[in-house]
Amino acid sequence: MKMHSLNLDGSTGEGGGQILRTGLALAMVTGRPLQITRIRAGRPKPGLMRQHLACVQAAVAVCGGEAEGAELGSQTLQFTPGAMRAGDYRFQIATAGSCLLVLQTVLPALMLADGPSKVELSGGTHNPMAPPFDFLERAFAPLVRRLGVGLDLQLQRRGFFPAGGGELVAHITPSAQSLAPVDVLERGPLMNGWAEALVPGLARNIATRELEALGQRMGWTFEAGQLRQPATRQNEGPGNALIATLEYAHITEVFCQLGERSLSAEQVAKRLVDEVRDYQRSSGALGPHLADQWMLPLALAVWRSGQAASYTCTEVTQHTATNAQTIALGLPVKVQITPAEGAMRVEIKPMP
Ligand code: ATP
Repeated sequence: MKMHSLNLDGSTGEGGGQILRTGLALAMVTGRPLQITRIRAGRPKPGLMRQHLACVQAAVAVCGGEAEGAELGSQTLQFTPGAMRAGDYRFQIATAGSCLLVLQTVLPALMLADGPSKVELSGGTHNPMAPPFDFLERAFAPLVRRLGVGLDLQLQRRGFFPAGGGELVAHITPSAQSLAPVDVLERGPLMNGWAEALVPGLARNIATRELEALGQRMGWTFEAGQLRQPATRQNEGPGNALIATLEYAHITEVFCQLGERSLSAEQVAKRLVDEVRDYQRSSGALGPHLADQWMLPLALAVWRSGQAASYTCTEVTQHTATNAQTIALGLPVKVQITPAEGAMRVEIKPMP
């Protein structure tokens, strides 16, 4: 039977690369062809950049499908997916594009494939405007595992923009039964909060200053093990990331600020503290980034199991709202976003 195609307008809402990645993932898991126009029309340099092309190529590798318009700068793509295939994959993302965004493109398909997969990626692991490795490992992957999927991530080397050179390996084992949707409505009590400063290839005192400034505002100390300077590996960097991890009973959230030449260490620390404080002021379980990224894995579980599921989040960003629209076009689910007490609530229901 010929399936009708999923037609997406890449300029909708957020108008960035996420519509493309979600569209590719939806096409792969449903087998529907994807037609996407006006790709990244909302961005200063529209069309497919290397980073997005890498996502298209990864989708083609995992599904053996065909892609027309898979060229740099292209604003239209026609992707016809074949069958999802578990296996060993290796993706190299040139110009320090984000490994994590490529992984998130193929993860939905590999979660539902016919066996375990290993995905090796090289490129950027700590990029501006993308989830850093630590966020995927500590915040995103544990949620995915709660659906019954095996997801193990190993960082071999960090790669910062613009040099790249990072490496990671992901092992994905599909659930033996149908995916089990989970509700994540509350954080539960805070168990642990800590920060780390990464400064490979840069002066170590940048890390010390960032941690001291952050520690003063958060009431965290080196003595209590709440301020850390992890060892770096050979040939990592140069780069700087300041990362805060909040471990609650039901969820772990990770916030990251990357250092920039024009910012002082103290300014980087202040930006991170502001982000953490915004999260702490709300009662939503998921922070702004987790809220847009968790929606697709959860929607797959709702679709496959026929059971509704919900989560609360601190805010609904344009990324979250746009992902809700895209997912509802690609899967037989309804995504409802409503205010909840001191937070927002996202509910995903199967359509009959
Ligand atoms: P472009 O914006 O250039 O089109 P893009 O493909 O990089 O390109 P977006 O559509 O903006 O991206 O999507 C970026 C994704 O990265 C979103 O899912 C967003 O939540 C996530 N992200 C950005 N910063 C962080 C962060 N600090 N922690 C976790 N996730 C992040």
